[in-house]
This record gives sequence, C-alpha cells and structure tokens, in this order.
Amino acid sequence: MTSAQETMTSRERVLAALNGDPVDRTPVVNPTSIATVELMDMVDAPFPDANREPELMARLAECGHTELGFDSVMPVFSIIQDSSALGCKIQWEQKDNWPTVKMTEPIYDSADDIEYDIEALLAHPDTQCVTEAIRILRDRLGDDVAVIGKTMGPWSLAYHTFGVEPFLLLSLDDPEKTKEVLQRLKRITIDFGVMQVEAGADALTLPDHATGDLVSGEYYHRYLEELHQEFAEAIPAPLILHICGRTVDRMPYIANTGMAAFHYDSKNDPAESMEAVGGRIRLVGNVNNPETLFARGPEEVRAEVIQNLEAGVQMVGPECACPLQTPLENLRAIPETVREWHAIQESE
Ligand SMILES: [Zn+2]
Repeated sequence: MTSAQETMTSRERVLAALNGDPVDRTPVVNPTSIATVELMDMVDAPFPDANREPELMARLAECGHTELGFDSVMPVFSIIQDSSALGCKIQWEQKDNWPTVKMTEPIYDSADDIEYDIEALLAHPDTQCVTEAIRILRDRLGDDVAVIGKTMGPWSLAYHTFGVEPFLLLSLDDPEKTKEVLQRLKRITIDFGVMQVEAGADALTLPDHATGDLVSGEYYHRYLEELHQEFAEAIPAPLILHICGRTVDRMPYIANTGMAAFHYDSKNDPAESMEAVGGRIRLVGNVNNPETLFARGPEEVRAEVIQNLEAGVQMVGPECACPLQTPLENLRAIPETVREWHAIQESE
C-alpha cells in the first residue's frame, strides 16, 4: 500500500488539528469510546472492570492506537464515572453492555437539593480511576499519542441526577430554576476536567447532551452557549464538545464557544456542517455507528470517511461511542482510508 510521508507524531497531529494548525495528514480521533468486546478479550480487560480499575482501563484504551491505528486514546469509555462519584445509582452491567445511571432513582428533585463535596467527588474511586488511567497512558505512550479525557457537562449531569423527563419538564416550566441547576452542577465539569489535564490529558471531550431529538438550537443558545464559553476559559486544554443527533441548527452557536472542536453526528452532512460552523471551530466525526460501523463493511466505512475528508473535516472518527460488537476491520478501515486518501492527494 502506498502511504504519504508522515512527519508528525500522532500526538502532534491531533494537537495541531485541534488548534487549527497545519497537519501532515488528517488525524484519526476518537473523542468517545472505540472499546469493543473483541478488544476486551484481546488484552483481557473486560467491562465492567475496565471501567473501574485503572490498569484495565488504560490497557483497553491503549488498543485504540496499538491495534486499530487511531492517533488518540480515550480511556473514559462510559458517561457515568462522575455521576457515580456524585452518588447516582449505577447499573455496572457485564462485558457486553454499557454501564448506565439508574434514572428511575433520581437523586435530586430541585435545584436546592444539589449539594456535594467536590473534594470527596474527585477522590471517589470512579473519578480517580480515570485520572490514574490517564497517568498510566501518558507514562506508557510518552509524547507519541494524544491522550483524551472526558468530563460531562451540566446538562448531561442534570439528566443523570434528575432523570431526563423531569429535567426537560423543568426546562420548559422554569428557565430560572433550570439555569440554577446548571450553575450548581458546573463545578463538577470544571474541576474533574482540570484534574484530568493535570494528570496528563492532552484534550478533553465534553459531552453535554442537548441532543437534536430532545431540545432545539434555541435551547442550546439560551441555556448552554455561555456556560460552554466559560468551560473553554476555565479548563486549560482543548475541549471537544460532543452532542448527538441532528445539530446543524446549533452549530453556529457552538462555534461561538471558543472550544477547540465539535464532535458531530452522522445525522449531519459533512459539507453542510462545515458551512454551518464557518471555520470558527474544528469538526471531528462522523462515521455512522449503528448502521455503517456496526452492521456494514469496510467499503461503506471508507465512503463515509472520504466524504468527511472531501468536505475538509479536520479530524475523522466514529460519530459517538461505537457499539461494543463493532467488527475491528471496520474500525481499522478508518485510519487505512485516511492514509490512502492523503497518499492519492500527494501523488496527484
Ligand atoms: Zn453521542
């Protein structure tokens, strides 16, 4: 196979792309999980233990680079580590299933209920597991590979602590109380993020699930745009905002936040999305999970990767956490296609 001359390390490439600087080729990035059951077996690091033991968490994350050829590693496979530390009840599940928050047992009813000891939250085994895994990865991979951490935004934390429906109802009924909830939860986002940066994370994914199917672009503007600007200022590392679903209507607002990148979903066309952000924030995405990566083959993956490259999307990867049963050949097709595409560009 012909491949273009690579002059940067994976880490340099990812950091340059996040910063909007030139790169030797488009980096292949996973702001969310690419853990699969097959990888868990390969390195003997299965769920649920790989979500709770730093060494297993690091080992499973490392596969994303060593086995699949991605330019980044991401040890925070789930979205529940901080919620667990906050006191939410967690269904930890088994190897073939994601851990989830038991949202039928919410821990808060109103903004006034929100009280937590931030020191205790950051010292909790499920948040410490993340920072410890980041330290291990930094140590093992040196400066070669980008290590990405993850801190959940207050909108997502509100879903986990109030339940999705009660929180969405509150947001319709009482905007002031809703803003107060977000204000009271935001310290978790900032402090857990800063702790990961201090442990060696190069960048952080910040999922905040104001998703296309649940809330409008106007909602994003009203409740989250300013908060997200605050995160970009308060956390000393490039941030990658993650929101699932159709989000073109909020991309112009997202581009105002000062975050480094937006991790976008396959419900948005790459060229349309590039136009919506107008060069004011980088995009990463958006290979479809449930159909393409999970159920189809390398040819279909290749087509979606090329669509992103041709649109000028700055970093390529799966749209969201990929299903645990995703075939490895489909994931490997992402970096393979990126290398081939750049080799062709250079030879023309
Ligand atoms: Zn998602």
